[in-house]
Amino acid sequence: MEEYPTFVSHLECSYTGKVYPADQLHGLSEAGKPLLVKYDLDALAKAVNKDMLKQRLPEFWRYREFLPVRKSSSVVRLGELMTPILPAQKLQREYGTGEIMIKDEGRLPTGSFKARGLALAVAMAKELGVKRMAMPTNGNAGAALAAYCSSADIETFVFCPEDTPKVNIEEIAFQGAKTFLANGYINDCGKIVGEGKEQMNWFDTSTLKEPYRIEGKKTMGLELAEQLNWDLPDVVLYPTGGGTGLIGMWKAFNELEAIGWIGSKRPRMVAVQAEGCAPIVKAFDEGTRHAEPWQNASTIASGIRVPAAVGDFLILDAVRESNGFAVAVSDEDINMAHQECARKEGILLCPEGAATLAALKQEIGTGRIKSDESVMLFNCATGLKYPMQSVHHNIDLGAVIDYDFIANV
Ligand SMILES: *Cc1c(COP(=O)(O)O)cnc(C)c1O
Repeated sequence: MEEYPTFVSHLECSYTGKVYPADQLHGLSEAGKPLLVKYDLDALAKAVNKDMLKQRLPEFWRYREFLPVRKSSSVVRLGELMTPILPAQKLQREYGTGEIMIKDEGRLPTGSFKARGLALAVAMAKELGVKRMAMPTNGNAGAALAAYCSSADIETFVFCPEDTPKVNIEEIAFQGAKTFLANGYINDCGKIVGEGKEQMNWFDTSTLKEPYRIEGKKTMGLELAEQLNWDLPDVVLYPTGGGTGLIGMWKAFNELEAIGWIGSKRPRMVAVQAEGCAPIVKAFDEGTRHAEPWQNASTIASGIRVPAAVGDFLILDAVRESNGFAVAVSDEDINMAHQECARKEGILLCPEGAATLAALKQEIGTGRIKSDESVMLFNCATGLKYPMQSVHHNIDLGAVIDYDFIANV
């Protein structure tokens, strides 16, 4: 059996720095905070270089030295390709901004970047002998968990808020998870998973409550750097729910700098939320390190409808360290950006991706993003999963076709 060269040295509590051993199942640290995976970066840097990467398949497992999986047999492959970076030149000209690029994560298995995190979480669970996993989800994470677990013969239980987009719920069930709808928010669903642990003997795969989803999301930062020839954009706009991706990318940049693959120039990290659920924005504006749970959360961008994030301080630390900021946009602006990008660029975003475009437009206006800064937007899921305007231009084949009507629609 092929062994993956792995350089994990230990795990560390992201809050207290307390050290935990690698190669064991872990949830949160004793302090109730996320655990981060630490590597022997000197050894890693000796084992791989940029030219070696070029010889590898265009998939995120090309970064295996940066990942915790030890046995190739643990890896479940569903086609984890590198996602394209699309230029949005018309919007760039129109807004009068620097380069606008969109990283289109909707091309990944199960149609969202949740595949990155769950591919890693499931591989590690398989390696460590887990037979049953559970999670709360607003949709995409559940779908990715279901798909990877079905392939790995791991049983899954998924809990969604009952108003999660129907297509997500059906996808989760169709991919083999036992799927439940609860009349509350993702945090309420998280409680069901946490409190059922003893009786159900399942592994809690909630965002940041196990250490490996971040490592999967970290590949976004590694990939971004490699695709841009190791020269990062000036600003990254990230639609932030639990914040795994933002935290993961920041970790990637730290590790890349530590091994000398990039310099100290970092993107300003901007956490984008919806006005109807903006706990991180509130905490950022108030200068606090932790966010209070958001009451009565509501937004059409369900992926970022997360009233409370365990990794709040990690998101806020990264945003502040990078000299970025956190910003909220209205559902109305999300809808407008969604349509504008589809009509002008031919790029069908998900609502959360559209939120980053809305934020860019807004912050060019306020001057918090400068017109000479290059900007990377994250489109986290395929737009095809989300409702679009319905169409009512019916044609009656029994009548004479009215081309004047057709011409004037
Ligand atoms: C999960 C999700 C997000 C938020 O990602 P985090 O890394 O958890 O903050 C944004 N958009 C979509 C479509 C998602 O599925």
